[in-house]
Amino acid sequence: MARYRDAVCRLCRREGAKLFLKGDRCFKPSCAIEKRGTNPPGQHGAARRKMLAGYGEQLREKQKVKRMYFVLEKQFRNYFEKALRQKGVTGENLLFMLEKRLDNVVYRSGFATSRRQARQLVNHGHIEVNGRKVNIPSFQVKLGDVVTVKDKSIKNPHVDAAWQTSAGRGRPSWITPAGKDLSVSISSLPTRQDIESNINEQLIVELYSK
Ligand code: SF4
Repeated sequence: MARYRDAVCRLCRREGAKLFLKGDRCFKPSCAIEKRGTNPPGQHGAARRKMLAGYGEQLREKQKVKRMYFVLEKQFRNYFEKALRQKGVTGENLLFMLEKRLDNVVYRSGFATSRRQARQLVNHGHIEVNGRKVNIPSFQVKLGDVVTVKDKSIKNPHVDAAWQTSAGRGRPSWITPAGKDLSVSISSLPTRQDIESNINEQLIVELYSK
């Protein structure tokens, strides 16, 4: 599968917003957005920042969300097509599917410091859902699922460090502790209030509906 291999802080600067792609550093003054501001990367970045409207604004919003969840274009488009076929508000359906991805749940649960690290944990077989190993980052969790770090992986220093540092950041209300450390349960489904408020999903719907 194709992967983005360039410096991820450039993505935040391109979108002019913190996308939290780099773990702990995103919460420190060394974050590139904190240090350099929200101008696009490159020598003439400041000159390229202009007020967007219409198509440009819709495109940037789609790119921002796609990059935030670290999903490539084809898969993002597929999520949109599915969201369109579901009942309810299409933009919200799209965000709910992204939130219910296993790699996102691992990140939100505090088992990893970023979605990228969470995806690696899933890919490398460190995560179980209802006691069975699942190594598919796009796996959709369901109500009542229990997501756990495998017993053998609990001593993994990256997981341990992530668990300690994420304790202060809290978890969304739809993910609750499941009796032991590094184990959570999906106690309800995500609502719009649980998802980043700086997303305007309607712009994405408008872009794909052209
Ligand atoms: Fe984005 Fe994190 Fe890099 Fe800051 S440190 S620019 S939030 S990826």
